[in-house]
Amino acid sequence: MPPTLPSTPAGRSAAADLTTLEFDDSFTRSLPADPEGRNFVRQVASAAYSHVTPTTVSAPRLLAWSDDCAALLGLSRPTQAAVEILGGNRLAPTMRPYAARYGGHQFGHWAGQLGDGRAITLGELTPSGGRWELQLKGAGPTPYSRTADGRAVLRSSVREFLCSEAMHFLGVPTTRALSLVATGDTVVRDMFYNGDPQPEQGAVVCRVAPSFVRFGNFEIHASREENESLQRLADYIITQHFRDLGTPSPEVYARWFAEICRRTAVMLAHWMRVGFVHGVMNTDNMSILGLTIDYGPYGWLEGYDPAWTPNTTDLPGRRYAYGRQPDIASWNLARLANALNPLIESVPALEHGLEVYADAFTRTWRGMLAQKLGLTTLDRPGDEELVRELFGVLQQTETDMTLFFRGLARASASNIEPLVAAFYVDGEPSETHRARLVKWLGQYEGRLQVEAMPADERIARMNRANPKYVLRNYQAQLAIDAAAQGDVSLIERLLSVLSRPYDEQPEHEDLAQRRPEWARHRAGCSALSCSS
Ligand code: AMP
Ligand code: MG
Repeated sequence: MPPTLPSTPAGRSAAADLTTLEFDDSFTRSLPADPEGRNFVRQVASAAYSHVTPTTVSAPRLLAWSDDCAALLGLSRPTQAAVEILGGNRLAPTMRPYAARYGGHQFGHWAGQLGDGRAITLGELTPSGGRWELQLKGAGPTPYSRTADGRAVLRSSVREFLCSEAMHFLGVPTTRALSLVATGDTVVRDMFYNGDPQPEQGAVVCRVAPSFVRFGNFEIHASREENESLQRLADYIITQHFRDLGTPSPEVYARWFAEICRRTAVMLAHWMRVGFVHGVMNTDNMSILGLTIDYGPYGWLEGYDPAWTPNTTDLPGRRYAYGRQPDIASWNLARLANALNPLIESVPALEHGLEVYADAFTRTWRGMLAQKLGLTTLDRPGDEELVRELFGVLQQTETDMTLFFRGLARASASNIEPLVAAFYVDGEPSETHRARLVKWLGQYEGRLQVEAMPADERIARMNRANPKYVLRNYQAQLAIDAAAQGDVSLIERLLSVLSRPYDEQPEHEDLAQRRPEWARHRAGCSALSCSS
């Protein structure tokens, strides 16, 4: 049974069915196509994409739907014919599906051609001046599937669906998710990479973004010295998505690179603000629009720990740990700079872009941190020290980042009660911990007095920067476990609660608690493999 969905919110204009909407194809019209039309794994030269249609599935069934994302597209709730499209069994007449060609630096090394190995873009919708690509993830093999099957399992699809939407509502730049469809087919995965592959339920997510182009789309052209294709791709992206920059020219390419750097910095500052760890910041997972893209073994910081990575594959080097993300983004931008060098041909211009990144990150993160603390600035004497000591206090004992910052608005040196729920060791904090915390709170209170902001205003301001609800890893896992048994109610509940992450929702207090101990070492709850 498909889930029953609430009726369309009042005040929204009449929405259309996916089967009848007119799709645009600006990407395929503007860019060089792979001339080979057959679907087999291969190295592709010069082209930006290959035409490929989704492979059919046995029994597509709608598991989840984002009303908010649908409203963006002017889409009505899906009929079964629309679900057939969302599962990959059918195309609307104006869809021209394709898989994009890209490469990437994975874990610091050039990996050559990667490409959409299991993602297929169906087409572009252009409601009221916008442009949104609809892309199926898990839709079957493409020329870029390498040795893999082109499919996705239910667990990773639930995670991508929920986290895309949760990030959007947190105000973090991100690709969106429209639907989650069970395929009715099984997919075999060696989830623990221990030589014990198991069948799992398959699923397809329909994700939505103005563009899914990554740094790696440029890198692949540059790596093969395909300068004409490189320029066409740059011109297309600038014309469609950076229109304000003007007609492409070497000077405009330089300004465009700086703008990508700026947007990436803003995205990273948001990740740090909400405690999001992407887990696989390879250059093929970096959006040219500065959107969070490709939700795989991501995780949310629970105990504050800059060295934490959710990705078991990343454990040896912790390259993609929480605290390293800003530097890794800069490293990735430097790879993009190399790829764009044939267009810009100015080392100072590329260096300037990287400086823009560093400045924008520092400024944005500082501003967000000030807001998290209820301060208007962190530029006063002593502020640097106040912040350094705060992060020291947070690491003295395992402290839930989300709960600590949320509780801070109501805590004081004489009342640490609002913070106690954040400590993973139950009971009274140790003497030394309490003393250091209280001392810091005293300094913090002194600093607040300098601002002289009314308490109500300060608390409201802090609550807008410090979410009450984030998609805790164990909650996603519980939603997956239930969905695997045919119960999608927790997916629906999480989607609904996470659509108001800054609001108090007293009836959902249980979703704003620190991770239970049983989840500490359970697969999917604190550590994830890349298997998906
Ligand atoms: P990811 O680690 O998910 O960013 O994927 C890296 C590359 O592997 C991309 O080119 C993906 O399209 C491809 N890939 C990942 N999983 C699969 C799969 N099951 N089938 C085909 N290609 C895949
Ligand atoms: Mg990827």
